[in-house]
Amino acid sequence: MEELENNSINGLIYYCKSMIEQIERLKKDSNYLTAIKTIAFVSMLLYYGEQHLDDIYLAFLKTNFVLCDTEISFLEKINEAIASCHSLKRKNLGEFFRHCPGTFYNVIAQKNLQTKKYKFQRTVYVLKTTPDEILLKSIIHQMNHVVNSIKKPILGNSYTESSRMGISLDSLNFRESEGLTVEETINELQLREMMTEVLKLSSYDIREQKINEVLRKCSSHESLFNNQTGNKKLDAIAKIVQPLYLDPNFKSLLIEKRLSGDLNAIQKEFDSKIYDDAYIYLLSFCELCNTSSVYEEDAKALVKSYLINSKKTI
Ligand SMILES: [Zn+2]
Repeated sequence: MEELENNSINGLIYYCKSMIEQIERLKKDSNYLTAIKTIAFVSMLLYYGEQHLDDIYLAFLKTNFVLCDTEISFLEKINEAIASCHSLKRKNLGEFFRHCPGTFYNVIAQKNLQTKKYKFQRTVYVLKTTPDEILLKSIIHQMNHVVNSIKKPILGNSYTESSRMGISLDSLNFRESEGLTVEETINELQLREMMTEVLKLSSYDIREQKINEVLRKCSSHESLFNNQTGNKKLDAIAKIVQPLYLDPNFKSLLIEKRLSGDLNAIQKEFDSKIYDDAYIYLLSFCELCNTSSVYEEDAKALVKSYLINSKKTI
């Protein structure tokens, strides 16, 4: 039985690795990250299920990985990206990439004025001196944002078009963003679950040598699997959002609708148990949590109301 399981895990790894290699050949990328990307791919596939294989494949296909040899060149690339990116009015940018050491994700949406269609340029910048196990965790984090933005990357009408990253929206005309803090929190909560898949993988006898090596490094670094992001704001919000995230009803809806880009369905479910626009309030309170503890209490109260009313309707 054990041997059979071992063979099927090795088969799955071989299958995902060949897809990553095919993408790398197509894009003329180096094979420097093949092992790490493969583990990220497998852990996401185990987490989301094979019905989402296409979303994961497309996320890797549509993302460019730029390798930086030194910290200086990495920071230069980030600064260039910030300077050239329209959507980077985000004040809290620096704060967010501290909990994803060694990587930086940037997306640029450009509209073709004739066809009215958007073209996306998604880039993950990678600092090569980052240890493999830390890089793996950061790449899963970034790619999970991408997997959850492949479908319906633009939402709204021509007046209020927004670029979507998971459950967060970045208005393209008004330079406003919504839900970024909760998006980061949900992404981190999912990352913890995906790291459990990584830990499981490391208990098998993996035949691909480099992949085996990275998995060994992961399993010997317990800190990779703890539940802290290293970012005080996100850790505080994770505590508020987690009970909602763990509600089985809400969780399955959130996972599927975040993938499909049907954000209205998430809002509708939350609002239906409390009051209209309660979901928008929750997103705003979480955004403001670090400015006053009042907002933290308000956010907690909304989550509590949802959970109580949700139980009543079952
Ligand atoms: Zn993030």
